[in-house]
Amino acid sequence: MTENGNDKQRRILVTGAGGFIGHHLVSALKRRGWWVRGVDLKRPEFSSSEADEFEILDLRRWDACLQATRNVDEVYALAADMGGMGFISFNHSQILHNNLLINIHTLDAARLNGVRRYLYTSSACVYPEYLQNTTEVVPLKEADAYPAQPQDAYGWEKLISEQLCGHYRDDYNMLTHVVRFHNIFGELGTWWGGREKAPAALCRKVAVAKLTGTHEIEIWGDGEQTRSFCHVDDCVEGMIALQASEFTKPINLGQDRMVSINELAHLVASIAGIEVSLRHVPGPQGVRGRNSDNTLIEQVLGWRFRVSLEEGLARTYRWIEEQVAHALRCSPQPQELARQFASSRVVSMNERTPH
Ligand code: NAD
Repeated sequence: MTENGNDKQRRILVTGAGGFIGHHLVSALKRRGWWVRGVDLKRPEFSSSEADEFEILDLRRWDACLQATRNVDEVYALAADMGGMGFISFNHSQILHNNLLINIHTLDAARLNGVRRYLYTSSACVYPEYLQNTTEVVPLKEADAYPAQPQDAYGWEKLISEQLCGHYRDDYNMLTHVVRFHNIFGELGTWWGGREKAPAALCRKVAVAKLTGTHEIEIWGDGEQTRSFCHVDDCVEGMIALQASEFTKPINLGQDRMVSINELAHLVASIAGIEVSLRHVPGPQGVRGRNSDNTLIEQVLGWRFRVSLEEGLARTYRWIEEQVAHALRCSPQPQELARQFASSRVVSMNERTPH
């Protein structure tokens, strides 16, 4: 195996390579000429993986983790049972159980297999609810995670796995990195089914409004809740820079431009070239406001997002409109499908995917 550097022999494992960010990451690593193994429960849905090897494995299992982490220098750990607010608000035990198993086993298998660099993908969901109770929130710094009080089991699992990475660094001298993403979005991500995030859901609803001429879209809650949104291309560049660095404490990665969900919906509609009215319906909203303080990542990695929210949304919207138009064209009951696309689903334990 090779030590970290620019050499072409570098061998890398990406877990969750069949998912949204993992798929983009594999492509970015291949553009650099490195050897990549992708592992997931499923292959990417919307375009084929460029990974040199792609193995279908259930990383909750110890033997699968040993197999996945063999003969690699670096691991990017992205595999997770997750989704948008409609998923993480209603599946606490499943999320905590599955993701703890995945992370405990993947990290220890990597240690046993002599992996030198390990990057764990955490989330802004680790931050305490008591700092996020208003729409005009102060951007969250890394140190704000403690005293801990995340809103959901998803955030607790991320915090525990962050801690585990820290202990493996101290006890086994493994170079572990922890990145906290703030709402990553872009093309080739889940846009329908209950696991999609707000930007993809809004793009889908606006596309349906445009294609069917309804011009009204549904929003969960009053839509005044605020967030920042970062395009996946910027996210992937930040991850690769972090893995190459010696920095080992948790670090934020996101945009620091905060918008409300209502503003986001109007932005997508203007990209689509239509006007929409917003119909507010009951639904999970998460914390009231959240923004990323990027001081640390700018200092440590010189990272700053390059893709503006407008540009990222335009790219994402174009791709989702194509998906929606294609699905409606191919459906024997396009009106019924359009009706389903126009609303958001909450996925509960009873209809979980067969993991
Ligand atoms: P995603 O759901 O698209 O990808 C996760 C992948 O993990 C999926 O393809 C899934 O099949 C796979 N997976 C789940 N259980 C598995 C198992 N038992 N074995 C093997 N693979 C399994 O999610 P994403 O948006 O690409 O997120 C990637 C990582 O980034 C996750 O750890 C997520 O928690 C974190 N994150 C993402 C965001 C975001 O906005 N997208 C924000 C914060 C944190």
